[in-house]
Amino acid sequence: LLSPDGTLAATIFAEITAAAVRHDAINLGQGFPDEDGPAEVLAAAVDAIRSGVNQYPPGRGMPVLREAVADHQHRFYGIDLDPERQILITAGATEALTATLLALLDGPDDEVVVFEPYYDSYAAAIALAGARLVPVPLRWPDLEPDLADLRAAVGERTRIILVNDPHNPTGTVFSAEVRAEIVRLAAHHDALIVTDEVYEHLVIDGTHTPIATLPGAAERTLTISSGGKTFRTTGWKVGWVSGPADLVDAVLAVKQYLTYVNGAPFQPAIAVGLGLPDAYFDDLAATQRERRDLLGEGLIAAGFDVSTPAGSYFTVANVGPLLDAGEDAAGFCRTLPERVGVAAIPLTAFVSEDHRADYAGLVRFAACKRTDVIAEAARRLAASA
Ligand code: PMP
Ligand code: GLN
Repeated sequence: LLSPDGTLAATIFAEITAAAVRHDAINLGQGFPDEDGPAEVLAAAVDAIRSGVNQYPPGRGMPVLREAVADHQHRFYGIDLDPERQILITAGATEALTATLLALLDGPDDEVVVFEPYYDSYAAAIALAGARLVPVPLRWPDLEPDLADLRAAVGERTRIILVNDPHNPTGTVFSAEVRAEIVRLAAHHDALIVTDEVYEHLVIDGTHTPIATLPGAAERTLTISSGGKTFRTTGWKVGWVSGPADLVDAVLAVKQYLTYVNGAPFQPAIAVGLGLPDAYFDDLAATQRERRDLLGEGLIAAGFDVSTPAGSYFTVANVGPLLDAGEDAAGFCRTLPERVGVAAIPLTAFVSEDHRADYAGLVRFAACKRTDVIAEAARRLAASA
C-alpha cells in the first residue's frame, strides 16, 4: 500500500482532485456530485442532530435504517430480509467491502475473482486480508467480461467472486448471461459472491438486477450498497451489507473493531431517502442519462473514441490516438488539469501493475456534474483538440 520508496501513496482520487483544485479545473475525475441531495433527506439529518441523535448508535445500525434497507430491497427487487439479523449498517460501502473481505478471507490460499479494471479499494482490502486477487479483464471497446475468461479465473481456491454492477470505472452493466454464470460458478466451486451495487439507481439503460435475486444466489451472496450516490451525499458515508445472517455476523465481528459504529444522525436521514417515491429514483436515472449523453457527445466532438456506459457516473474514452509518442493516458491525465482545465482519471489506476499496458490509452470521465459544467468541460476539451 506504500510507494516503492516507502512513503504513503495518495489514492488516485486524492491526487487528481488536488491537481484539479490547484489549476481551477473542472473535476471530472473523482466521482462526486456538485449538487446537494433531496431537501427531505438533508432536513432529516439536521432534525436528527437538533433532536439529540448524536451518540453511538447500535452496533448493527439504527433500526429505522435497517428497516428502510429491508423495505427498499423488497420494494425494488422483491428480496426479503430480516432487519434484525440480515442487515448491517457500515461507514459507507468502503467499510462494508473491507470488513467483508477481512471477515471472509483466510490468507494466501484464498483467491478473490475481481473484474478488472476495479475500484481501487478492492485490491487494497484483498491485500490487507493477505489473499490473492485473480482478475477477469473487461477489454476495450465493449468492456464486457468474456465468459471463457470468467470460467478460467474461478477454481478450487476461489473464496469470493467480487462483482461491481453497475461497474466503476467502465459503466458496464453486466448481462443476464454473465450474472447467471457467476452464480453457477460460485455454486459449483462453493464460493461466496460479494456484490457492490452503489450505482444501483444509476442504471441508465435497462433496470438493475441484484445477483442475490437469481435462483440459488441468496444463500451465498452478500449485497453491498450505500447512500452516497443515490442521495448525492458522498461525504456522509452511510452504507450497508445484507445477506445470510451468519455471514452478516462475521462482517459485524470485523466492523465492530474498525469503526465500531458510524454516522448516527445520517442514518435516519438515509432512511428517509430510501423511502422516497419512485419518481425520485426515476428522475435520478433520467438525469444521469442526459449527463452521460452530453458528456459522450462532447468527448466525441473533442476527437475521442468513447464507450456508451449503461450505468454509473462514468464514461471511458480512448485517447490513445491523440497521445504524443511515448505518452500514456496517465501522463495525459497528469497534465490535463493545467493544459485544458479539466480533470479525469487514467484507467491504469484501476488495474494491476502487470496489466497497465492493456489500458494505457484509456481515461475515465465522471458525468455527475450539472449540465452547464459538463458542457463547459466539453468546450474546453474541444478547444484543445
Ligand atoms: N464502490 C464503488 C464501485 C464506488 O465507486 C465507490 C465510490 N464512491 C464506493 C464503493 C465507495 O462508496 P462509499 O462512499 O459509500 O464508501
Ligand atoms: N467512488 C468515487 C470514484 O470512483 C470516489 C472515491 C474516492 O474518492 N475514494 O470516483
